[in-house]
Amino acid sequence: MSIKETEAIVLHSRKQGETSKILTMLTRSFGKMSLMAKGSRNVKSKYLGVLETFNYISIVFYYKESRSLQFTSQAEIIDSFPGIHAELGKMALAAVPLEIIEKTEPREHKNPQLFQLLLDTLRAFETCTSGLKNITRSFQLKFLEISGIQPQLEKCNQCGKTKAEEMNNFDLDRGFYHCRECSSPFETSVELSGNALENLRWLNRSPLHSACKAKITAQTGKQIDYFLVSYFKYHFESLKNIRSLKYLQDLTNHLQ
Ligand SMILES: [Zn+2]
Repeated sequence: MSIKETEAIVLHSRKQGETSKILTMLTRSFGKMSLMAKGSRNVKSKYLGVLETFNYISIVFYYKESRSLQFTSQAEIIDSFPGIHAELGKMALAAVPLEIIEKTEPREHKNPQLFQLLLDTLRAFETCTSGLKNITRSFQLKFLEISGIQPQLEKCNQCGKTKAEEMNNFDLDRGFYHCRECSSPFETSVELSGNALENLRWLNRSPLHSACKAKITAQTGKQIDYFLVSYFKYHFESLKNIRSLKYLQDLTNHLQ
């Protein structure tokens, strides 16, 4: 057994027994991990308020290679993102990246690029006041890039034309699109309007912290979300039933 220290973001927590918690975290140095925090739900616990979902923390833990659950020793908040916690809409949108990582990232696969992406995403939610859905969309695109399965959005794969036609057929299976002039829909295709394609390209090229500046209409946004969700579900078996997106959809419907 050894003592390790790293930065982490709390993805998920569940109660364990009377006073403890089991946490899923994305750590900067060790990838995704499960950690037990004994006594953390006790009112006098040193962890009180520290191990909440979304929190960016520094953590010391006891590590043993042979076990899948490690044990926390100390934890301190670096940033608790109070702006996210204060707004239901922000929490619902910021829950999507957390769930995607929780469900797709293999255990203890060191992925500092993904850690930085999640941190940048939470910081963008914390500071932006509008265009929040575009942060989730930008995260999704950058996550796909890190995962090595980014959709090819820059040109028609058949004729090479870069101008976004009014309507295009995107093949979920092969990850590219044909403009409508080049082909009829594929077996596994979704439609992408020219507007949706252009906005996706912009989000793809722009840094995450700029994403909330994008002006995307509700109608185009819906197409983009449909496209992204379809793409994720097609390529990640574990995301067939993604609860944060369902909740987000219900919340959006409720707010309209
Ligand atoms: Zn074409």
